[in-house]
Amino acid sequence: MPIDATAPYDDDNIFAKILRGEIPSTKVYEDEWAIAFEDINPQAEIHTLVVPRGKYVSWDDFSAKAPDEEIAGFVRAVGKVAREKGLVEPGYRLLANVGADGGQEVPHLHVHLFGGQKLGRMIA
Ligand code: AMP
Repeated sequence: MPIDATAPYDDDNIFAKILRGEIPSTKVYEDEWAIAFEDINPQAEIHTLVVPRGKYVSWDDFSAKAPDEEIAGFVRAVGKVAREKGLVEPGYRLLANVGADGGQEVPHLHVHLFGGQKLGRMIA
């Protein structure tokens, strides 16, 4: 079910539980600002999710409310994950779904990182 991007943050969302270590994930990266783990239903050869530790519903919420330090930390974490996975060359794609039309299902900001294959057109 797509989420309402204007809803308040829900502490029981699945990524909040992963961040608290209450449910398992295939964690591939973590630092002060973010964690990254493999998507449970991959849409490409490489499909990794990068999630800020802070409680933000969506990119909209994050870009409007997060302190600059936290935004910088998260953006750098996304870049590090891509570099550590060796994706810079030949390339990769980032995607953040926002709200109902964006198809966002988990109400905690996450960036999808796709790679490991030619990714084709931007929107299928
Ligand atoms: P979105 O539609 O942008 O909210 O994407 C949510 C993504 O989270 C989907 O690609 C799901 O496959 C993925 N997902 C849901 N639950 C889990 C989980 N427990 N571990 C890893 N990925 C998950």
